[in-house]
Amino acid sequence: MKQQLFEKLDYAYEEMLVIRRHLHMYPEVSFHETNTAQYIQNFYADLGIEFTPNVGGNGVVARVKGALPGKTVALRADFDALPIQEENDIPYKSTVPGVMHACGHDGHTATLLVLGKTLFNMREQLSGEYVLIHQHAEEYAPGGAKPMIEAGCLDGVDAIFGTHLWSLTPAGTIEYRVGPVMAAADRFEIKIQGRGGHGASPHQTKDSIVIGAQLVTNLQQIVSRRVSPVESAVLTVGSFVANNAFNVIADSAKLIGTVRTFDPEVRNLMEKEMERVIQGTCLANDCTYEFDYIRGYSALVNHEAETHLLKAVAEQVPGVTGVRETEQHMGGEDFAFYVEKIPGTFFFTGAQPQGEVFPHHHPKFNFDENSMLLAAKTLGAVALDYQEKDN
Ligand code: MN
Repeated sequence: MKQQLFEKLDYAYEEMLVIRRHLHMYPEVSFHETNTAQYIQNFYADLGIEFTPNVGGNGVVARVKGALPGKTVALRADFDALPIQEENDIPYKSTVPGVMHACGHDGHTATLLVLGKTLFNMREQLSGEYVLIHQHAEEYAPGGAKPMIEAGCLDGVDAIFGTHLWSLTPAGTIEYRVGPVMAAADRFEIKIQGRGGHGASPHQTKDSIVIGAQLVTNLQQIVSRRVSPVESAVLTVGSFVANNAFNVIADSAKLIGTVRTFDPEVRNLMEKEMERVIQGTCLANDCTYEFDYIRGYSALVNHEAETHLLKAVAEQVPGVTGVRETEQHMGGEDFAFYVEKIPGTFFFTGAQPQGEVFPHHHPKFNFDENSMLLAAKTLGAVALDYQEKDN
């Protein structure tokens, strides 16, 4: 059965390429992906595949039912792009100024569409049901996964699998990992309210810039002195704004940043300790503050049995030349919410292109398009093999 799937996918690769390049030319940013959603709907409608539009927003969920009884397996692909001006010189370059598929979600979508079509063509021989989750808004919290789950996309689903094409991993390599693989990604905002005044008379003011500078340094000590050295945490102040002239002491200052963690207890600790450090620093400087800690995506924690199944399946996919454990990434990924709810695993499909390699979210990001075929084969094979699993 898998052999037949692989052959059909080989045959359909050209179509995958055409779809990916089309989507690449017409990218849409998170929560505004209406044309992309329409494209996905048209694809399924033309084939007579059952689908539900507007699931939790722009999400589209298609269903392929096998003729034989079995389990229900979901496969997920995201379809949003980023507010980046493309700098690649390619025939299928983005036609939308300032918007680019710079994370490979165009490739994810092409992969899942063609895999869905292929499963549909094999439905008479298949057991179980395949739920094809096309998710909007992965790049921008609160993301599309949560509302799609709330709208019922996981109802009746036994397990879920997803992959990310990865430009920094050699093409032909599949990377898996049991347990936490991507970090919880939170955002914070701190407003310091000092008292402005003349640059020559600091004693009559409460200098928000000096206080903010202390805060930037003090906050780093949470990671170095409060978090256990065997745990992971990142605290980055990405923005520090206090608009003023050279001879004016800033009345207020605003710090914005991100916190990344894997362990929920470390995440709680970070939030609690931040409040304490901010409170203490502001007390010492006789000023007031506002502190907002906004929780983004949870850490993505892969389930053991499904990850082992994926690993075993990947080792037998033709064209896959290496299967290895991935490092943990401090980036966020809202696939986390699916595996918080049901068993599943998220893996990386190596997609390093020829020539110079650029990371995800770079204006010159691109990936090896052949890797879409390996992603489709691996996702399809794991979905079929999950039917054989006895539980
Ligand atoms: Mn991505």
